[in-house]
Amino acid sequence: MTTASTATHCPYCSLQCGMRLVGRRSPEVQEWPEFEVNAGALCRKGWSAARLLGDRERLTTPLLRDRTTGEFTPVGWDEALDLVAARLAALRSQHGPDAVGVFGGGGLTNEKAYQLGKFARVVLGTSQIDYNGRWCMSSAASAGTRAFGVDRGLPFPLADVEQADVVVLVGSNLAETMPPAARHLDRLRERGGRVVVVDPRRTATAERADLFVQPVPGTDLPLALGVLHLLVAAGAVDEEYVADRTTGFEAVRASVSAWWPERVERVSGVPAAQLRELADLLASRRPTGERARVVVLTARGAEQHVSGSDTVLAWINVALALGQCGRPYAGYGCLTGQGNGQGGREHGQKADQLPGYRSIEDPAARAHVAGVWGVDPASLPGKGRSAHELLMALGTDDGPRALLVHGSNLVVSAPNASRVVERLAALDLLVVCDFVLSETAALADVVLPVTQWAEESGTMTNLEGRVLLRQRAVTPPAGVRTELEVLAGLAERLDSPVPLATDPEEVFTELRAASAGGKADYAGITWQRIRDEQGVFWPCPDVDHPGTPRMFADRFAHPDGRARFHVVDHAGLAEEPCADFPVHLTTGRVLAQYQSGAQTRRIRDLPDTGPYVELHPLLATRLGTADGEPLEVVTRRGRMVAPGRVSESIRPDTVFVPFHWAGANRLTSDALDPASRMPEFKACAARLAVAGG
Ligand code: SF4
Repeated sequence: MTTASTATHCPYCSLQCGMRLVGRRSPEVQEWPEFEVNAGALCRKGWSAARLLGDRERLTTPLLRDRTTGEFTPVGWDEALDLVAARLAALRSQHGPDAVGVFGGGGLTNEKAYQLGKFARVVLGTSQIDYNGRWCMSSAASAGTRAFGVDRGLPFPLADVEQADVVVLVGSNLAETMPPAARHLDRLRERGGRVVVVDPRRTATAERADLFVQPVPGTDLPLALGVLHLLVAAGAVDEEYVADRTTGFEAVRASVSAWWPERVERVSGVPAAQLRELADLLASRRPTGERARVVVLTARGAEQHVSGSDTVLAWINVALALGQCGRPYAGYGCLTGQGNGQGGREHGQKADQLPGYRSIEDPAARAHVAGVWGVDPASLPGKGRSAHELLMALGTDDGPRALLVHGSNLVVSAPNASRVVERLAALDLLVVCDFVLSETAALADVVLPVTQWAEESGTMTNLEGRVLLRQRAVTPPAGVRTELEVLAGLAERLDSPVPLATDPEEVFTELRAASAGGKADYAGITWQRIRDEQGVFWPCPDVDHPGTPRMFADRFAHPDGRARFHVVDHAGLAEEPCADFPVHLTTGRVLAQYQSGAQTRRIRDLPDTGPYVELHPLLATRLGTADGEPLEVVTRRGRMVAPGRVSESIRPDTVFVPFHWAGANRLTSDALDPASRMPEFKACAARLAVAGG
């Protein structure tokens, strides 16, 4: 039942701002001031989100593409689903279950992510499932699991940041990527707290900082080693906390002795004096004499590297050494990116996971989940390939020959995107579920038109681990189906051993049972509780449990209750600049666009500048170019041409390209972090030239 005014959440980033949608035909966004996460504030993407509901290019009928002509033909749902099911069945019987791959997204609701994992393992029997969240925060997830025994982006509510004394943001442009969250930094500063920003670019967030540190791309890790070196030397380590609540510090203490400030300066370009200033801030005391409350937050700038997991571990080491993790208004957190980046990694669309953040290789976890699903645990496949490895295997002798894509625009968002296009072309069958003809849908053999955010209900888990309910506010256009209906329709045609539910609340009830006893335990969370309580924080093992806004107060999630220090060292980038490719290329987001731009580039209220190349005036002078002139950027994988944007905000040895338009990711590197399988989106070697020069 829809109402004229519906409390719901923004379709975009992990802050999941609350908003009201008013009206059913052409709904307008209004503020929802009572929702505490954003207290009525929205960024321009949120304010304009309803424009997408009436988009003229909205898909409302399944499409089949003729590979010879490239033309799409509209068909009915039965014809489309019959065709997809028949071809999947044929490929499976000829080549085995792993001949079909599934690619999900960090924007899917928890119910869809859960059902996608179940569909892959139970209906298709394939191990070949992963999702684009692998490219978002997997390095922080890997590090958090190793250090704390569990991965929840923020182990405390975001508003706690206001009560800290020092906040260190490593590789986050919070002010542009989630503007309503930046008010917490402002309030912290009004209270006398200090903000430190570490970024190769002087971003809008850096402009709000008390201390701005501008390292060479890929050197956030040695920076953390240098900070810890200084803290040890100053006697600022919280020895009592380290002894009582952690293991492994002595090896870390020894390892950071090799990272004195001048060595860090040579590697990172950060002056030794500035490193000392940062360490002094972290070691400072409150007027009461107690230690300053320190929050360390990492984001994609630190994480999207071949050493991303180790970089996060290095900063966690700093927070642990200062006794901050588990302390009120202090600790370490990761600022997740995609709308359901957190929930999307908990319920089974990841290659190595079953619902509840369980390992697919754990016999007890397999037995539990198989019991909920009503199947034999032995029938569940094992661990599959990570996202990029899955894409690179498409159409190869032992890789998938068909791929189902849900909630992902791979052609724009994958690293080394030209290779990805080649692999997609090698498939026997590409099926894309989307509500607009994204660049990836345009390459599909079959496009299935599905509902979007405000046309369906489902839960999202925001960056704080707060489970929220996005409520349906408008009636979907005739002709579209929900992804739950699509999966159920295919399951039926593929003779699934069990039926798949199509009602999202029913799916959530099943998800609760599947997650019960897991690390991300949702057993006590109901849709009604979410409505009544403005969200519920996991873990929440039963309906009488209040949820867990703050983790680690008494113990960490490792069996012995202790956090783990890890010795890590600087290994550098997969591609350092050289004579042929002399500058670093880094990529990122801009305020008005979101991820691959498939949604936001269609909204005329949002400025669509197209891609550009940000470069320092010194580099512009050396090239003989001026602001606005077209530049060619070339890497080992590809080239693109875009106007130059000359700015003193970037290092002279680095150029920046936003990734919302096709082009940037034809340049980026697909070298992977060995632990998280995260590609090194944030740095590769490039050369610049005046286009046509
Ligand atoms: Fe809030 Fe993010 Fe939506 Fe902006 S994009 S309104 S910050 S949820």
